[in-house]
Amino acid sequence: MIRINEHYLKLRASYLFSDIAKRVEAFQQANPEREVIKLGIGDVTRALPQACIEAFHKAVDEMAYDSTFRGYGPEQGYSFLREKIAQYDFKARGADIAPDEIFVSDGAKCDTANIQELFAVDIKVAIPDPVYPVYLDTNVMAGRCGESRDSRFENIVYLEGNRNNGFVPGFPLEAVDLIYLCFPNNPTGSTISKDQLGHWVDYARANRALILYDAAYEAFIRDDEIPHSIYEIDGAKEVAIEFRSFSKTAGFTGTRCAFTVVPKACMAFDSKGIAHALHPMWNRRQTTKFNGVSYPVQRSGEAIYSDQGRDQVKFLVNYYMNNAKLIRNAMSDLGFECVGGENSPYIWVDGQRDSWEFFDLLLNKAGVVCTPGVGFGKCGQGFIRISAFNSLDNVQNAIARIQSALA
Ligand code: PLP
Repeated sequence: MIRINEHYLKLRASYLFSDIAKRVEAFQQANPEREVIKLGIGDVTRALPQACIEAFHKAVDEMAYDSTFRGYGPEQGYSFLREKIAQYDFKARGADIAPDEIFVSDGAKCDTANIQELFAVDIKVAIPDPVYPVYLDTNVMAGRCGESRDSRFENIVYLEGNRNNGFVPGFPLEAVDLIYLCFPNNPTGSTISKDQLGHWVDYARANRALILYDAAYEAFIRDDEIPHSIYEIDGAKEVAIEFRSFSKTAGFTGTRCAFTVVPKACMAFDSKGIAHALHPMWNRRQTTKFNGVSYPVQRSGEAIYSDQGRDQVKFLVNYYMNNAKLIRNAMSDLGFECVGGENSPYIWVDGQRDSWEFFDLLLNKAGVVCTPGVGFGKCGQGFIRISAFNSLDNVQNAIARIQSALA
């Protein structure tokens, strides 16, 4: 008899975005004349930078001739891209990461989901709340959790974010082995200082733990004091794996290119306490289960690092950050406390009421769609997430509507 992985049965069906879609559809049916502005889902809206498009076209043309055609590439990514990443994303920031410590992939979602395969099932995992749901769900699927009660899975240690800690969680009260951190944060837009991140690195070193650091939104950092990479912290290479993505940086959500850094010095332990390097393990995993990102996409990714590409990406990020500033200022002026929007494309608004109630209010009175904070975890209750990923026109319209709805 074929049997299922019963851990899947523990997963709460992901109702969040389908609930949102249902409510939006009901609103549109009842109000066909009203146009809805979506500031909910974190997907970009602007075209790829011109430099990326040109490199993409050129690489597609290469595929048209036997002499320049490429078949399977290296599973870890082409060196032309890995070298640029090492140089511009790490060495330029004083982080000593070598090209062969970088694994190019088709998304930070898959990598943050797949990495947990390298670790024992009975480790203690610490996961923030609120959180990007992939970290939690993939550990549930792997069998690291018991049942869920009151939005809390047994065996998971929740790192609670709240108003008091500015959504930068403190250390867990019990010892943990694997820690997920994401800064700039989705959904809260909070950032972590070098000192705070340094304390997490110290914690991991002292407890023989490992940090999985998701820096998918680092390109949105404006403040020079905020670290872009965990490897800007001394000693992090032994205890941290970092995830990056071109999705939000350069509009690659539909193009798919990202990368994961597994330093050669990064270790985890077997049941006898003997240290093992994670780099060869992740290499083994990728070469067994993954066949690389397509050549034209990697060439397009490489173009992000050209002079033109860097200017164009800066322009793109600035465009969304201008939206973020307008949204944050408008919500603050209306009397709501906000986190984020200054070094991240998300604004986390304290709605001073139930998350869904605020969602409904904005939808019904302003025709604006946001994301209810409670959808990201229990600690998100009372908040909404507003995304800056839309056109300036739509953002200005949404703000005007919210202002007249809530005035
Ligand atoms: N990590 C975080 C925190 C995200 O918010 C997202 C996408 O929304 C991802 C990773 C996924 O990135 P990618 O498009 O590279 O899979």
